[in-house]
Amino acid sequence: MDKSLAQDDDVLPDFDEGDEDEEGGPGEPPPWQEPPHAPEPPRSHPCWSCAAAVPAGSPACPECQESARHLRLLGPGASIDLRHGEGPPLRLGRHPVWATAVAGALSGDRGQGVSRRHAELQLTPDGTMWLTECAHGTLNGTYVNDERIPPGTRAPVHDGDVIGLGRNCAFTVLLVEPGA
Ligand SMILES: [Zn+2]
Repeated sequence: MDKSLAQDDDVLPDFDEGDEDEEGGPGEPPPWQEPPHAPEPPRSHPCWSCAAAVPAGSPACPECQESARHLRLLGPGASIDLRHGEGPPLRLGRHPVWATAVAGALSGDRGQGVSRRHAELQLTPDGTMWLTECAHGTLNGTYVNDERIPPGTRAPVHDGDVIGLGRNCAFTVLLVEPGA
């Protein structure tokens, strides 16, 4: 009799253990099986103009009001790297007052063939960019990807396009989306 009881004791714990496994199995998965949490998207990014924090999704900087989306103008020979938001166009030329942002960099040989008031580059709120040669025209022409544009008529410019003020002065235009 003692022997058979001992055998029952041996069997029961095994049965209980198996039962517990089945109940626990389909319940909570072990922590190491949970999918890793995706990184949270940034809630703000620094303003390109004044470095204030711009909330993600906001179209403009709360401090300086510049649009989060902006264009970037590069060239020639790394002499110019500037950013410009939506609204009034960026004036391109050698006139020191009319084209304040670029005239200094274009004052020497780099600006050869560039008129004093040559063209205007504009980013509109719908995210399109336009280049307009000044209405009275220029001596050496204005180009988008080597194609001459007529004076006084705006021509579309896309991200990565090369614009030319005359034949010897070229810029690359980039469209920078908010937060980028
Ligand atoms: Zn700002």
